[in-house]
Amino acid sequence: MGSLRDLPSVDQLLQDVQVQGWILAYGRPLTVEAIRSALNEARTRFAQTGDLPNWDAILQEAQGILERWTTPTLLPVINATGVVLHTNLGRAPLSRAALLAAQSVATGYSTLEYDLERGRRGSRLIHAEALLQRLTGAEAALVVNNNAASVLLILTALARRRGVVIARSQLVEIGGGFRVPEVMKQSGARLIEIGATNRVHLSDYEAALEEKPALILRAHRSNFRLIGFTSEPELSEIALVARQAGIPLVDDLGSGALLDTSRFGLGHEPMAQESLAAGADLVCFSGDKLLGGPQAGIIIGRAELIARLKKHPLARAIRADKLCLAALSATLLHYIKNEAEREIPIWRMIAAPLESLRERASAWAAALGQGEVLLGESTVGGGSLPGETLPTYLLALQVKRPDQVLALLRHQRPPIIARLEEDRLVLDPRTVLPEQEHDLLAGTRIALSSHFSYPNGSKGSRAL
Ligand SMILES: *Cc1c(COP(=O)(O)O)cnc(C)c1O
Repeated sequence: MGSLRDLPSVDQLLQDVQVQGWILAYGRPLTVEAIRSALNEARTRFAQTGDLPNWDAILQEAQGILERWTTPTLLPVINATGVVLHTNLGRAPLSRAALLAAQSVATGYSTLEYDLERGRRGSRLIHAEALLQRLTGAEAALVVNNNAASVLLILTALARRRGVVIARSQLVEIGGGFRVPEVMKQSGARLIEIGATNRVHLSDYEAALEEKPALILRAHRSNFRLIGFTSEPELSEIALVARQAGIPLVDDLGSGALLDTSRFGLGHEPMAQESLAAGADLVCFSGDKLLGGPQAGIIIGRAELIARLKKHPLARAIRADKLCLAALSATLLHYIKNEAEREIPIWRMIAAPLESLRERASAWAAALGQGEVLLGESTVGGGSLPGETLPTYLLALQVKRPDQVLALLRHQRPPIIARLEEDRLVLDPRTVLPEQEHDLLAGTRIALSSHFSYPNGSKGSRAL
């Protein structure tokens, strides 16, 4: 037992070679602050317990503080869940071309709002527009920050203080707090609900015209299915009613595929081109769901309506940034060049042949020297194709405390996110990028061995 006077001073500690290294890595002010904080901690503990930490213990405390202060919380992870568009794991990974495009405009200046021909101010809105027109046949297009913002902008610009017709079966909650009725309220539009929860008829749409609505909205039931005694008119039928009344029909597709998902043994997810062809005046969808690009909200449709959206002050508040526009344009180019299935990661994952998944899972089993390869199911996720699955092969690991191994996997760097199935830990190769396999196997090996060395879980769980 010593006295507080025995504690080293900040200046003394700063002379330590280890601390000199921290100054290079973290900068002097932060290092000094961490050392002060560690010394304060030591004084508090001394007051409580009478124990005085030694030099090394103080440095160790300071190092821990520095790491806590500087480690990013937004980290890349390995997604071994088999959920392709995992909303909590950042939805769509970008293609290499999209990444390079974002990088090239990020690290320097760009033509974001500069017209090279005329040598003066241009518009950021042109960058993805021509590509979207070519891909979907739309007259015009607008890109905003995300699809929730698309819906908010459309309703605010076109229907504020006026009525919007929507079927009760479409008053959906997408997750993350996005509820169609609440976004409508936020926009200042008045909800004109029609039909019953399970059924809505064309005559309901016709009757609602009495209320002189500003527009008709259709929202895709992205994350649930309605089955049983249900019915809903075709979009083309609603479009006819809307056209005759002279009011716009807006289709919120949510995911909005540009490729036909039914080609991959999945149900058919509505496609942006189809909605336009069926007569929707505006169609909106996300950039980072089945499009496989960066977070964005994409609005396509009639030029006159898009022009009104572009002019609205809210458009400025929710505009897409240069990184998004660069990555989105590169992603759209993959579709234009008919290489989406090969170049866009989520389509590569969705299109992965079952045999190649079996080979990868078997190779993992061999490398780990344990586990069983089983037929299982992957899902698309991300608010698309609810209830639909893709057959896959899983590596199933029989462990004593699967929840503990899940936690150990999460604590690897990069963290590995796996799932449990019938009390077994399973890893799905579909969503693990090939370049992550090495880290996946290394991390899994460590997690499994720390699990086995603490069979009762007491010491092992302390490490968590
Ligand atoms: C996902 C979704 C949204 C929100 O899109 P974000 O890009 O996540 O903002 C809106 N509407 C529907 C129908 C959706 O599925």
